[in-house]
Amino acid sequence: MEKSTIPILGIVVPCYNEEEVILDTSTTLSDILETLSKQGKISFKSFMGFVDDGSSDKTWSAIEGLQKKSKNIRAIKLARNYGHQNALLSGITTFGEHADVLISIDADLQDDVKAIGEMIEKYREGNEIVYGVRNKRDHDSWFKKNSALVFYKMMSLLGVNIVYNHADFRLTSKRVLEALREYKEENLFLRGIFPGMGFRSAEVYYNRDARKAGHSKYPFIKMLGFAWEGVTSFSIKPLRLVTVMGFVVFGASVVLGAYVVFSAYFLQVVHGWASTVLPIYALGGIQLLALGIIGEYLGKIYQEVKRRPRYLIEKQL
Ligand code: UDP
Ligand code: MG
Repeated sequence: MEKSTIPILGIVVPCYNEEEVILDTSTTLSDILETLSKQGKISFKSFMGFVDDGSSDKTWSAIEGLQKKSKNIRAIKLARNYGHQNALLSGITTFGEHADVLISIDADLQDDVKAIGEMIEKYREGNEIVYGVRNKRDHDSWFKKNSALVFYKMMSLLGVNIVYNHADFRLTSKRVLEALREYKEENLFLRGIFPGMGFRSAEVYYNRDARKAGHSKYPFIKMLGFAWEGVTSFSIKPLRLVTVMGFVVFGASVVLGAYVVFSAYFLQVVHGWASTVLPIYALGGIQLLALGIIGEYLGKIYQEVKRRPRYLIEKQL
């Protein structure tokens, strides 16, 4: 189904301590908006929507300054730092009200803005979601590249539907955004939710650049947390693993028990320290692990049942 009307595009940009790049970013994006609207591909009412995710630097005052000068900037300031996914969600929800289609992109513009035109094209061909997919990651460190690879592989192994090498650079139509409102979970893992919705989608390929200024807000520990969030929000396989492990350990202990009984009657061996202590360690370890994983999910349930708002907006421009 081809789309005939000219869509209003909103570009959603989450910003956390991005004072060094925000000016360049807004200039680049504003050029893109201008070009595309002159070509008649998007409406002149298209805009950029900045989300200040509780920055502690001058990001917000920079946004305010920009907003005064130009008419195609909207912005919200979150009450504190809620993290990338929630910042994105707040932007998508707020700015989705004013647009027919949204594209989310990181403030550092590591993702190629040229892909935006292509995304719009794919949207007009009838796709509801268009994923930006990285061709190569020359500019990312060896570690970042490989940890990302492990993450994608692990997720697909656990049965989570995600698009390989796609981060949060994507186009979503109004229909998708309306559907997203029905997803009320606290731990919203957007990269897993969109592919699982089942709307008609397409991919656009681009090369990922190095960050122009400032530094990555995703240190290893945050990335690890993000991956774990993704796994436990979508998959109960870790829980099942505990059950399987329980069966294996139980089976082994039956065999071991038979051996102990046999040797007590027929071999007259003095049971040593190792054979007493080792099983205690082993079983204790496994039990702890199992409890830990169960606790993890319990913690999730605890968070979910509270139904707290996922973000609070302090100011809106
Ligand atoms: N970001 C955010 N809140 C956070 C951390 C990051 O809104 O708590 C934003 C950040 O400003 C950027 C995007 O998320 O626009 C991606 O972050 P970054 O470029 O630091 O991550 P990387 O590209 O290194 O994975
Ligand atoms: Mg980045």
